[in-house]
Amino acid sequence: MSELNVVSISEAKIPAEPFVARHLIDGEWRGSADAATFERTSPSHGSVVTIASKGGEADADAAIAAARLAFDKGRWSRTSGKDRATVLLKVADLIDRERERIAFMETLESGKPISQAKAEIEGASDIWRYAASLARTIHGESHNSLGQDFLGLVLKEPVGVVSIITPWNFPFLIVSQKLPFALAAGCTAVVKPSEMTPATTVILGELLLEAGIPAGVVNIVLGFGDPVGTAMTADKRVDMVTFTGSTGVGKAIVSAASGTLKKVSLELGGKNPQVIFPDADLDSAVDAVVFGVYFNAGECCNSGSRIIVHEDIAEKFVARTVKLSRRVPFGDPLDPSTKVGAIITPEHQNKIDTYVQEAKASGAEVPLGGGALQVPGLNGQFYQPTVVTNVSSAMPIAREEVFGPVLTVLTFTTLDEAIELVNDADYGLSAGVWSENVHTCLEFARRANAGTVWTNTWMDGFAELPFGGIKESGQGRELGKYGLEEFLEAKTVTMRIGRSREPWVA
Ligand code: NDP
Repeated sequence: MSELNVVSISEAKIPAEPFVARHLIDGEWRGSADAATFERTSPSHGSVVTIASKGGEADADAAIAAARLAFDKGRWSRTSGKDRATVLLKVADLIDRERERIAFMETLESGKPISQAKAEIEGASDIWRYAASLARTIHGESHNSLGQDFLGLVLKEPVGVVSIITPWNFPFLIVSQKLPFALAAGCTAVVKPSEMTPATTVILGELLLEAGIPAGVVNIVLGFGDPVGTAMTADKRVDMVTFTGSTGVGKAIVSAASGTLKKVSLELGGKNPQVIFPDADLDSAVDAVVFGVYFNAGECCNSGSRIIVHEDIAEKFVARTVKLSRRVPFGDPLDPSTKVGAIITPEHQNKIDTYVQEAKASGAEVPLGGGALQVPGLNGQFYQPTVVTNVSSAMPIAREEVFGPVLTVLTFTTLDEAIELVNDADYGLSAGVWSENVHTCLEFARRANAGTVWTNTWMDGFAELPFGGIKESGQGRELGKYGLEEFLEAKTVTMRIGRSREPWVA
């Protein structure tokens, strides 16, 4: 493994005292009703970095009650778009002010590189600003062509109380793709971060209070999917659930929410293909493939984990990908030069490795990686950059979300064959094409079954552009004006303004 670029222990220090995280309920910081807590161990450094209150049913119940009351009293929903925008803009400024602190905790809990964490926090404040701009644009429709006696209005109203359940891979960014849009719409919220990454959502709670959010409008309950997440999905006082995470839990949420027929918005997994044609700018394509698969250690719903390369260039392209992969700096996430950090838990590291070993046993080849990476001086878990070839599209490694730094390679000869491979998937989150021919790119964009298509790029995102998946990658959209619409209901007001109606009873 000496041929890899391994970054070992940096000068940066782990704090002597863990971060203490508590629930935010009705504007107050509280421990759990039963005083239970849990610890988060840094996946890169092996030390306890957070001690968090462990929510139970009583805590979830109190948070939902506070959000319900705040909504029903109109503490937020009846404020003007201008006032809501003012608070959201303040939050954005406070996120910028606290960027270093948030990024540091994000890195300690998630194992992601500090430089990446900083960029994500910067991106998050941009999303808060964008959502603030949308808060002032909410409007419905008027219908003045219903005949002389009628005027029809369509009012846009906030959905109500929203449960926001987030995962560990982009804790601050993902809550920022949901919460500011819910708030812009006038909703109140109960937020549950993953039990692996509670700290930065708690810091966000501090900033919301400082920005002047009224009590009960945003509540945070820390703890596990069961019982906190389950209570947040089944409770009839909640009007909507927005969730990012695994497809399995997404399906469980749909089922739990069906008891009260609440609205559900889901951003789930992906097995995202990038198709590389021989006429592509291959320098850019190799770099984007390497970025797409190793970014966030592959723990990314948008991971470009499945490349589909034209047979004429496949051998050379794989060789170049392996060569460039060796240069990617893996290791200590607190070192500013690191590009790929730790794997979230030892169990997840085993899951990644099992996919690779099973593929090998089924005849796949592994020209690079395929095992744990030892980082001198660190106690956490790391996985080698891994490339798997000689793969068939029926293998689990080519179909399922590995969620690790593992690239699978398939080949094709015609555009039709490439599209067939792209669409032969249960997921439909994102897809990419590399070609200098605009007609190839456009045809691909039209025929690929995916919520997002990238042409000659990978994983670029903007607050203005909606994001979400089709098939088992989810339902609903985040970001853009579509992200706001998710949190709005339409109410029809039909007004008789004339008196020419014939009586029904003569
Ligand atoms: P989960 O889907 O289990 O977790 C996501 C969030 O849902 C967490 O806050 C979790 O709580 C919560 N949760 C768990 N069970 C329930 C439930 N029954 N009702 C309500 N909320 C619940 O993801 P994991 O962390 O377990 O990761 C497993 C796999 O999911 C990964 O290997 C990856 O394939 C995929 N994944 C996909 C993501 C994406 O962005 N699309 C993000 C993360 C994971 P808690 O974990 O705290 O108990």
